[in-house]
Amino acid sequence: MITSKETIGYYQSIESFALVDGPGVRSVLFLQGCNMRCLFCHNPDTWFLTKTNPITPDEAFNKLIRYKPYWQNHGGITISGGEPLIQLDFLIEFTALCKKAGIKTAIDTAGQPFTREEPFFSKFNKLLANTDLFLLDIKAINPIVHKKLTGKDNTNIIDLFHYLSDIGFPIWIRQVLVPGINDKEEDLKETGEFISSLTNVKRVEIFPYHTLGVPKYRKLGIPYKLEGILPPTTEEIKKAEDLLRVEKYQEYLKD
Ligand code: SF4
Repeated sequence: MITSKETIGYYQSIESFALVDGPGVRSVLFLQGCNMRCLFCHNPDTWFLTKTNPITPDEAFNKLIRYKPYWQNHGGITISGGEPLIQLDFLIEFTALCKKAGIKTAIDTAGQPFTREEPFFSKFNKLLANTDLFLLDIKAINPIVHKKLTGKDNTNIIDLFHYLSDIGFPIWIRQVLVPGINDKEEDLKETGEFISSLTNVKRVEIFPYHTLGVPKYRKLGIPYKLEGILPPTTEEIKKAEDLLRVEKYQEYLKD
């Protein structure tokens, strides 16, 4: 039973066995709520911080720990969304429980809530102390393209990349490649140079844009704005991977 003194998180779902959400086999806790509106988002059902699925850090831990036998070697728990950083208090407590139990955690984030202002910044540093890895998205390096693609500015997100690099906190960088929007050669080249300037990058991944989320937009009555855009070709993906120097970054976290 949840009491009024406890920290509450709001989650969307739990996936027991995932292979693309961090090192090794992961179980994933998807939290509710996101302030961005990425045109390609395949989880529009996570956008609103609906309070239909409340959970305490203890309850979440007890649900997830059942999947421990899957997490051999580098595996563990990934907290995704939505945007997990908007539920920072819950995240801090949940990851503290995992750390105490020796379980590795990764945060799958687009970084949009990041600020060096208080009280966020001190809380954010507490989260880093409990966590092993960030899976950090670059939606677009070009600020104009970023605004068009997500509805938000990317200045604070770029600042987050710099901060994590300065303190040497490990990250995997991921970019969804959307043909005709964030795949311009000069922008990808700039992204590659930006990544090279960072000290903490363990892996870089390109995710091809896909349309699997479109039925969710229809169901929710939200207009889908990328109608007619096709997934990138194999050649386009390869070119983007070369420009981002993906091959250089293939390191898994060491135990
Ligand atoms: S940041 Fe993630 S959850 Fe939020 S709109 Fe973008 S793709 Fe969707």
